[in-house]
Amino acid sequence: MESPKEKCAVVGVFNSPYSAVLCYYSLFAMQHRGQESSGISTSNGLDIQTLKGEGLVTNVFSTGLEKLIGNASIGHNRYSTAGEDSKCDVQPIFARYSLGQIAIAHNGNLVNTKKVREKLISNGAIFQSHLDTENIIHLIAQSKKDKLKDRIIEALSQIKGAYSFVFLSRGKLFAVRDEYGFRPLSLGKITNEDGSSAYVVASETCAFDLINAKYIRDVNPGEMLIFSLKDDNATFESVQIFPPKPKKCIFEFVYFSRPDSFVFNKCVYEVRKNMGIILAKEYKIQADLVIPVPDSGVIAAIGYSQESKIPFEMGIVRNHYIGRTFIEPTQSMRELKVKLKLNPIKALINNKDIIVIDDSIVRGTTSKQIISILRKTGAKKIHLVIASPQTIAPCYYGVDTPDTSQLISATKSIEEIREFVGADSLSFLSLEGLYKSIGNDDVNADGYCKACFDKQYVL
Ligand code: SF4
Repeated sequence: MESPKEKCAVVGVFNSPYSAVLCYYSLFAMQHRGQESSGISTSNGLDIQTLKGEGLVTNVFSTGLEKLIGNASIGHNRYSTAGEDSKCDVQPIFARYSLGQIAIAHNGNLVNTKKVREKLISNGAIFQSHLDTENIIHLIAQSKKDKLKDRIIEALSQIKGAYSFVFLSRGKLFAVRDEYGFRPLSLGKITNEDGSSAYVVASETCAFDLINAKYIRDVNPGEMLIFSLKDDNATFESVQIFPPKPKKCIFEFVYFSRPDSFVFNKCVYEVRKNMGIILAKEYKIQADLVIPVPDSGVIAAIGYSQESKIPFEMGIVRNHYIGRTFIEPTQSMRELKVKLKLNPIKALINNKDIIVIDDSIVRGTTSKQIISILRKTGAKKIHLVIASPQTIAPCYYGVDTPDTSQLISATKSIEEIREFVGADSLSFLSLEGLYKSIGNDDVNADGYCKACFDKQYVL
């Protein structure tokens, strides 16, 4: 409810007669990575058609998908930050330029957008959106290189930040991951009904499961894959355009990714369960029940329960169908807002000592309201256990987190946070514990970004 929000999902399908439909189902599987808008661009070899709009995948494509006919498509789900003009910012972005037509979709966040944009504007470029992604279109259009591949490489060498891009031209599909590999991007393969091969790239492998694609490998940090046709089969060329300096987002395991995905070549479910197991070893708490905050705390709570032998119960029920709320900013109304989504089961909780597991604490306000509701439901003691270290710094690499001033762990001690949220005890997974959960004993010797936990930014 107050966890950081992933900004986007991308997908690309090459050499399938159902490329737009496969993109649609992939975007549906990755709806959790962005619910504000969705879009698909499809090439039939001569033209690129785009259908996009605000809303959930099923709403955006309730009509018109059948008009996206062609063997190659890219798609995008977007989570937009408040205050931005969402209509202009829906992706993929499409443009005509000197080499023909191009569509782009982006997961991530560029850190030198302003500087690049000012230079482009001084050269005469006109922008239609707030998107950092639009810079790329202009850099490609202004390049003097003869081939799109070289134009993309030249454009990427002028930008800095986190990106997993998919580019669609009329005849090819390109997939690129930044040299740090902040955001995930995986490669899968499909066998078409006539026996020919198709390729798919997607932010998460849960998309592959839905469309029967076989996971091949991750796109490497700094690598570009160029998909083209050879004898009716899809083939790809790999170009390592930048030396890899891996800094994969460790928060993907904490919260963003679906538990049925393989991210950075690891099963998210197993990692999340390990977090609970390690939490139970780090904090031996006496209690009657382990209760998750659904859905994000469920798997860590299973791990905690199995390790501690304290029974697991779904003591809080989540309502998934929250529409617009009409909430006044009074204390009772704020509680109503939480209860609309999360409702405790009195028969389970009344007169019990409980361990409540959540994925993270950002502002602390939602945790405070959940604990208040649990107390009113009759819980005797409430031990809040968080399956990640303290979030002390914002993210600049494609995740929407509040400013430092609003991050409760940046401004308060653990004891002050405990007092603020009203728990009897408060515990966070150690950074070492988080690394152990992903199978790594050394927090410094591997390729993960953990800047929101330790302020060690690379860009
Ligand atoms: S700062 Fe945090 S959320 Fe952002 S990329 Fe790094 S680990 Fe992920």
